[in-house]
Amino acid sequence: MILSEQHGEWRERMRGFSLKQVQPGAGSCDKSGEFVDANVRAMADQGLLGIVWPEDLGGMGLDYLSYAIAVEEVSRVCASTGITLAAHISLGTYPIYKFGTDEQKKKYIPPLAKGKYLGAFGLTEPNAGSDAAAIETSARKTDKGFVVNGSKRFITSASFAGTVIVAASQDRSLGRKGMTCLIVDTKTPGFSVASEENKLGLKGSNTVELAFEDMLVPVENVLGRELEGYRIFMETLDGGRISIGAFCLGMAQGALDTLVDWLAKCGPPSQMASKKLSDVAVEVEAARLMVYNAAQYKDADVRADKECAFAKLYASEVAVRAAGTAIEVIGMPAASCDLPVARIYRDAKLGEIGEGTSEVMRTIIAKEILSEIQRA
Ligand SMILES: Cc1cc2nc3c(=O)[nH]c(=O)nc-3n(C[C@H](O)[C@H](O)[C@H](O)COP(=O)(O)OP(=O)(O)OC[C@H]3O[C@@H](n4cnc5c(N)ncnc54)[C@H](O)[C@@H]3O)c2cc1C
Repeated sequence: MILSEQHGEWRERMRGFSLKQVQPGAGSCDKSGEFVDANVRAMADQGLLGIVWPEDLGGMGLDYLSYAIAVEEVSRVCASTGITLAAHISLGTYPIYKFGTDEQKKKYIPPLAKGKYLGAFGLTEPNAGSDAAAIETSARKTDKGFVVNGSKRFITSASFAGTVIVAASQDRSLGRKGMTCLIVDTKTPGFSVASEENKLGLKGSNTVELAFEDMLVPVENVLGRELEGYRIFMETLDGGRISIGAFCLGMAQGALDTLVDWLAKCGPPSQMASKKLSDVAVEVEAARLMVYNAAQYKDADVRADKECAFAKLYASEVAVRAAGTAIEVIGMPAASCDLPVARIYRDAKLGEIGEGTSEVMRTIIAKEILSEIQRA
């Protein structure tokens, strides 16, 4: 795909950075399960933790296409680092930028953009995954603020976060209309990390369970308006699908890189290997077009739920297929973890689940297509 000169140079820069600073620790973090802390520091030094926010809020002021390219290139060599970057920007910081008051933006975005700490997003609960309206975490309004009780599961980077955007229900009888969104400082008494998830992949990323016990959150920390939480979380997830798409695209490209390197070393490929290589290459390029297309909608400030769902659905399924195909063609050297593709295979499966499963993406796409017809 042809990129502008500026985006082409940015890709080169991100490729160089990822190979030099991110790739060296990727295998060891996967084996040990240690958080990719050094890579997060390196991304902060490059300004990547504030890539899309304006310079007066401590960001780099770049566009979403540049952001998608950065997530793609980082994930191409280390998906644990890629998901950490994507969750920090799109889930942990975006809602404050989009829905926050000027005071909230000035207070919270500069330290997030500079990488003083990470941002996290707490929606999922033990009994509320795809059906986000089923959350049980409660926020009782008092004279002193909201008293929050409950728990969250699968929350990315929350052990290293300074703030978590928490979904809580002010009135469960109202379902999704009873939800409020709160900016929670992780130093607030009553906030704790209950346990770390033992995941199939993305071993170097941090995914935890959170517990809230009589956690008092000031009224000024409401994001948007009270009872508007569901809309804020859904809009955040729609945009987040661009970066999760880019994260999956990076893994798919990483699997293709491994396959190409292997075949280049092995002399002329068999007919079977040639066919599989070209099938993977076509799918990776198609995924790239979808992810960049969704990013360009965002840059044009046009809401594009269908295109974001296309990108997430397709890129996540391509990543799993690309890694599986590379393992099939290469055989045991790939399956025995000598090559990065076994790690990519495990990491990629989680891309099909996070920020909306493939089934949920298909539901969104069908709904959008049918409502377009009704509007016409
Ligand atoms: C790596 C990773 C990081 C994550 N980070 C975060 C985070 O930072 N913050 C956060 O809040 N959450 C996070 N999550 C949680 C994630 O968003 C949920 O896992 C996801 O929403 C699915 O919920 P669930 O796992 O409870 O599955 P469920 O919703 O229980 O779904 C189980 C199965 O049923 C299917 N299903 C459910 N409902 C429907 C339906 N209506 N129609 C058709 N099929 C359906 C699903 O597709 C799936 O196959 C993360 C998950 C992963 C894997």
